[in-house]
Amino acid sequence: MSTRASGYFQEEPLSFEYPETGQKGVKLREPDLPQVTPHQAMAGAALRSDGLEGLPQLSEFETIRHFTRLSKMNVSIDAAMYPLGSCTMKYNPRINEVTARRGGFTGVHPLMPDELVQGTLEVLHRLQEALEEMTGFPGVSLQPAAGAQGELTGVLLIRARLAAKGERRRYVLVPDSAHGTNPASAALAGFEVREVKSDAQGCIDLEHLRAQMDEDVAGLMLTNPNTLGIFEPHIFAIAETVHAKGGYIYCDGANMNAQVGIARPADFGMDVLHLNLHKTFSTPHGGGGPGAGPCLCSEELRPYLPVPRVERDNARYLLNWDAPQSIGKVSTFFGNTGILVRALSYVLAMGGDGLKEMSEVAVLNANYLRHKLQGDLQLATQAPTLHEVVFSDQGLAEHGGITTSDLAKRLIDYGFHPPTVYFPLTVHGALMVEPTESEPKAELDRFVDAIRAILAEGDNNPELVKTAPHLAPRRRLDETAAARHPILRWTRDGETPPK
Ligand SMILES: *Cc1c(COP(=O)(O)O)cnc(C)c1O
Repeated sequence: MSTRASGYFQEEPLSFEYPETGQKGVKLREPDLPQVTPHQAMAGAALRSDGLEGLPQLSEFETIRHFTRLSKMNVSIDAAMYPLGSCTMKYNPRINEVTARRGGFTGVHPLMPDELVQGTLEVLHRLQEALEEMTGFPGVSLQPAAGAQGELTGVLLIRARLAAKGERRRYVLVPDSAHGTNPASAALAGFEVREVKSDAQGCIDLEHLRAQMDEDVAGLMLTNPNTLGIFEPHIFAIAETVHAKGGYIYCDGANMNAQVGIARPADFGMDVLHLNLHKTFSTPHGGGGPGAGPCLCSEELRPYLPVPRVERDNARYLLNWDAPQSIGKVSTFFGNTGILVRALSYVLAMGGDGLKEMSEVAVLNANYLRHKLQGDLQLATQAPTLHEVVFSDQGLAEHGGITTSDLAKRLIDYGFHPPTVYFPLTVHGALMVEPTESEPKAELDRFVDAIRAILAEGDNNPELVKTAPHLAPRRRLDETAAARHPILRWTRDGETPPK
């Protein structure tokens, strides 16, 4: 097993930092025909202009090289396995890009009347039906533009339902292993968070849940399969406990990749769910968006879904704004339509059997890695797991004192994006691996070999691992400063960046 000379070495300045050479991107000869229309004259003037103030001028060749070099620094699923746990970084078939870029979809404007966007509305409606069928819920809104916004929408539905019943409840229960967006969504929706403990296996501690659940609790935010990849074994008892006190269960469905075609969250007592189309249904994600986090719900919560609703009246599709109990709009228009088109395209191309196979292979791949690596790393749980496998750092330091972070950084030198690290917080030094269904066995084996090679390096030459990565353009970043004091805008030397 050897590291990969990645070509990521090369430093690349910002385009603003290139020396001024007076070069231009486009050189045009003076036209030999007179420009007759005002449009031609304007277009000609724009192309001949001396550039926009403040923007750098590079030649075409420099521009191409600049962006090609930058693209080589970009670690992506197109280059190697990207096993970031909980994020479902999988291959997105290009056919869905082609579909989403068709002029009929890209040419519409959100303010066009329904009559002129029947095709787009039909796509949205058919996607709604597909998601309802997959999850078992009768109501859906495609509007939320991210998973976290889908969560917020879900919790707002619960709040609206309680208000309609004349109830004011103060708390939302969130398990200690939950994704950080869960407590944030509960707080944004105006609730206080009460934590529910995990048991020794990493599942909800039923006794603790019973103790925490009372008439002042609006509901529980549950991730299932949970963050360790375990399908909650007491899911029915959990639902019963919450419902018995008049609460609702919001289910974080970002992990739907493990259960499409196999299990429907509505069938195990969930009241509301969000999906991450940019994880499970063919939208490349990263770089902060765009995304789509549709929110699905039970009949009881349905009147509160956002407006407008995409509905069908015989052969005609329409946007319905008439929903007096609705929580209102959660996005400017009705969601990130291009992503919704990709999702339906993916669903139709895969078909029901294909989607089921997707989930089965995702689970198989994660369990293959679990089986291969359980002798090298310490499993976080002995319980059966689905689409991801989490290891703790127990015993890791025996390899020359290396840490989870060292192991993750060294994986970069072997050509892999690091897995999720130090999450969930319930696992010490967690390393959370989600290979997804995309990976062939050879790539999984290469990952296993890389982990083993790094552990051996820890035994023989731990400094090599502790100072990794060596083959990336940057080595070890100050992650705290990057999060607390991000510099988001380039300024000329001496200028202070705007606050
Ligand atoms: C990704 C993820 C989210 C949040 O989704 P965003 O689109 O990033 O807002 C929420 N919960 C879980 C479990 C996730 O993996």
